[in-house]
Amino acid sequence: MQQDNPDITFITPTAPVATATHGGRAKCLQRLVRLDLPVPSTVALSFDEVHRIAAGETPSMDELLAPLHQGTLICVRPSSEDPDWGGPGAVLNIGMNDAKFAELSEKLGHDAASAIYARFIQSYSTHVARLDPDMFDDLDLSAKDTCKQLLEAYELEAEEPFPQDVGDQLAGVLRSMARAWEGTTARLLRQAKGAPADAGLGLVVQEMVLGLGHAECGSGVLQLVNSTTGLPKITGRYLSQSQGRDALQTGASALFLEKDTRGPSLEDAAPEAFEALKQQAALMRVKLREEMQIEFTIENGQVYILDGVRVQRSSRAAVRIAVQLAQDGIIPAQEALMRIEPRALNELLHRQVDPEAERDVIGNGIAASPGAATGRIVFSAAEAQASAARSEACILVRRETTPEDIRGMHAASAVLTERGGITSHAAVIGRGLGLPCVVGASSLRFQLRKKSLLAPDGRVFKEGDIITIDGTDGEILAGEPKMLEAALDDAFQSLMAWADEERDLDIRANADTPADARTARNFNANGIGLCRTEHMFFEADRLTVMREMIFADASEDRRSALDKLLPMQREDFIELFRIMEGQPVCIRLFDPPLHEFLPTERAGMRDLAEALNLPLSTVTRRVEALGEYNPMLGMRGVRLGITVPEIYDMQARAIFEAAIMANRNGANVVPEIMIPLVSAKREVELVKTRVDAVAAAVRTEQGLDFDYRLGVMVETPRAALRAEDIAPHCHFFSFGTNDLTQMTYGLSRDDAGRFMSAYVQQGVYPEDPFHTLDADGVGELVKLGAERGRAAQPDLTLSVCGEHGGSPESIAFCRKVGMDYVSCSPFRVPVARLAAAQLAIRDKIG
Ligand code: PEP
Ligand code: MG
Repeated sequence: MQQDNPDITFITPTAPVATATHGGRAKCLQRLVRLDLPVPSTVALSFDEVHRIAAGETPSMDELLAPLHQGTLICVRPSSEDPDWGGPGAVLNIGMNDAKFAELSEKLGHDAASAIYARFIQSYSTHVARLDPDMFDDLDLSAKDTCKQLLEAYELEAEEPFPQDVGDQLAGVLRSMARAWEGTTARLLRQAKGAPADAGLGLVVQEMVLGLGHAECGSGVLQLVNSTTGLPKITGRYLSQSQGRDALQTGASALFLEKDTRGPSLEDAAPEAFEALKQQAALMRVKLREEMQIEFTIENGQVYILDGVRVQRSSRAAVRIAVQLAQDGIIPAQEALMRIEPRALNELLHRQVDPEAERDVIGNGIAASPGAATGRIVFSAAEAQASAARSEACILVRRETTPEDIRGMHAASAVLTERGGITSHAAVIGRGLGLPCVVGASSLRFQLRKKSLLAPDGRVFKEGDIITIDGTDGEILAGEPKMLEAALDDAFQSLMAWADEERDLDIRANADTPADARTARNFNANGIGLCRTEHMFFEADRLTVMREMIFADASEDRRSALDKLLPMQREDFIELFRIMEGQPVCIRLFDPPLHEFLPTERAGMRDLAEALNLPLSTVTRRVEALGEYNPMLGMRGVRLGITVPEIYDMQARAIFEAAIMANRNGANVVPEIMIPLVSAKREVELVKTRVDAVAAAVRTEQGLDFDYRLGVMVETPRAALRAEDIAPHCHFFSFGTNDLTQMTYGLSRDDAGRFMSAYVQQGVYPEDPFHTLDADGVGELVKLGAERGRAAQPDLTLSVCGEHGGSPESIAFCRKVGMDYVSCSPFRVPVARLAAAQLAIRDKIG
C-alpha cells in the first residue's frame, strides 16, 4: 500500500526515495537497507507531505503506521536535503502510554520503564504541546511515582489528559516538527548555512530498538577515523544499560569502544557485537563511498543500525579521508579533489585555534593573513625584537605598520593593527611571511600611549598580557587557547600532486625575498609572478640606502646611493634565479609609495641625517617636502621611473647582470621586467627605450647575449581602457587588481578598513572587493583590458597578480577571461592550485 504513495514511503531497497524529495537521512537509510544492514523498519515522509502537515493537513495515521510492527515505540527524525542545514530535534519513544508503561515495567523493570515514559512526557510537553519547561521544576523526579506526577502536571497545564493513542501522539509530533522547520528563525538560520529559501524537510518515522534487556544492551555511535586527524582510529561512545538507571537518565560516562586499560569497553562486554559494528562501518565506507558514523543500539547482544551520518571532520581530516578513499580505490582522485573546499587548506598550512577550544573573543577585524598565534602584547618593533631575543612569543600591536616595523614583524608571532584593509602593508607582508594578521580591528580601542588595548566589554589588555590572534577568522582572543599544528603531511602532498595533474592554469607566487621564493618552490608554484623590488629594501640596513636614493636631491648623491643599491639588487636577483631553477621570474621595477619609505619618527630621521651627513633640520624639511596628500596615487611606480630614470636603469642592469651570472651556472633564465602603475603608452615607450639601451650596454660589456621579456602592470583604469595602444610594446600584461580595485572604486586601499564592514553588513558591497574580485566592475575592466590587449598583440601573456590571485572565486573569473596564470602570496599557492584543479574538473565532467 505504501509504495503507491510516493509521499509516505516505507523504506525498502527499491522504494522511490531520493535526497531531493525525502532528504539525506531517508536516502542514507535506504542505502543501509540495500546493504542488508539491520535497520529497524522506517517510513519516509517527503518534503511535500511535511509541507502539507505544516499547513494543517494530517496524513492517515493508519496508513503511516501500517508497515511498522504494532506496539513498538517509534521515533521521528528530521531529514533535510543537506544535513548541515539542521532541522528540528528528533522525538523518541512515541507510543509510550500507560499501557506500554505497564508492559515495559513487567519486561524491563519499573525504573527503566519509568525513565522512558518520563522522558517522553517531558519531551512531548515542551516540543509538541509547547508547554513551559519550567512546569516540571518543582517535581521530585527521583520519586517512585515520577510518571504519575508528570502526567498530572501535564493535565493541569494543558487542560487535557496526556494523549494515550499512538496516532494522536505521532500526529502531534509530525505537526510540531513540520512547523518548527517553517518558522522564520529556523529559515534564516539554514539560509545562513547556504540553504535555499524554499528548502524542504523530510521526516523519517522509525521503529525504536530500546537497547534494554537482560543480555548486553546499550546504544552509541562509532566511526573508524579520528575526526581531527582523519587517521584510522575507532572512536565514538557507547552507553551500556549495565551502567544502570543513572546512566540512562543523565547520559553518565560512556564505555570505551575498544579494549582499554582505563576502564570497561564494548569490546570486552560484547565482542561479537563490536566486531559486527566494525564490519558494518567498513562496509558503509566502501558502499556509501564516505567515512560514516553509525548510530547503533545493541539489544540482548544483537546490533541494530539506526542511522548513518557523514563523519564530522576538521579540514585536515577531510583531506586525509578523501585521499585515503581515493587511494583505496573507493572514489576517483578527481572526486577526492572536488570534496575539499580550497580555503580549508589554510587550516593545514598554518597553526589554528583548535576548533574544540573555548574562544574568549575580545575583538575582531579583517582576517588579513591566516593562521593563529599566541604571545605577549608589544607595542613597538623594538620591543618585538627584544621579546624574540628572550625567545618569548609576542604579538606586535600597531596602529598600522610601515617598513620600519618589518624587523618587528619578523620577530613577532602575529600582528594586529587598528587600521588598514586586506591590501595594506601589514596584510601584504603578513601573508608573505605566513604570519597571522588581523588588521582594521577598530572594535578595540588602541591606547598606544598607555600601552593598552580596551575591549568593547571594558576589559583592558596591557603590554605583556597574553592574547591570541586568529588571522583565519579575524578574531582577537584573550589568553592562550589550545592550538592545532600545521599539517603538510603525505595526504596533503598527494592531493596537491593530483591537483597539478588536473589544472590548466599556472599558479605563480608573489615573492620578494629568497625566503618567499623558497616557500613558493616548496608549494610547487610555476614561477614568481610578482617580485616587488621595493620590498627587498624593507630590512633596516637596506632601508637607509633606499631612503638615501629617494631622498637625494642632487644627481651625484643619487648616483652614490644607486651604486650602493646595484650590487644588493644583483645579489638578490641571482639568489631568486637560483632558487627558482629556471622557472619564470617576473620582476617589477620599483613602485615605492613614498610614505612607506620616508621616516616618520625622529629616530628614523636621525639615522637618515647621519647616513647623509646632514643636519636633522634639513632632513625634516625635505621629508616634509616629499610628503604627499595621497601617496597611493602620488609619485609611485613608473612616475618615479620617468622623473628619475637612473633608478630603473640601475634595476635593469642588476637584472641583466644577474641573469648572465645565473646562465653561466647553467640556468636558462629569461627575466621578465614589469613596469608598474602605467596609465599611458608613452610611459612604456620611454621606459622600454632605456631598458633596451641598458640591455645593449650589458651585452656589449659582457660579450654575452640574453633574452628578456618586458611587460606592463595593468592597474590603472586608463591602462585597461588603452590596452590596445600599450600591448604592442609588451610581451605580457599583469593585472594589478589591488590598485585597479582602489582606483575603480575610488577607495583607498589603506583606509577602506574603516568603513568596509559597515558597507558589507548593509549590503552596499556583497563583500570586500579587495578580497574577492568585483567581477561586475573591476572585472569588466580586466576583461576589456585583456581583450583589447590580445587584439593588438595576440601572443600577449595575461595574468593577475593582485591579492585576488589567491581567492578561489576570483581564480574562476581569471580562468574564464583567458588568463595564462594567476600569482598570489606563497602561502596561498596550494589553495589556488586546488581551486584551479576544481575548475578544470568541473569543465571536464560538464
Ligand atoms: C596590485 O596593485 O594589484 C599589485 C599587485 O601591486 P601592489 O599591491 O604592490 O600595489
Ligand atoms: Mg599595484
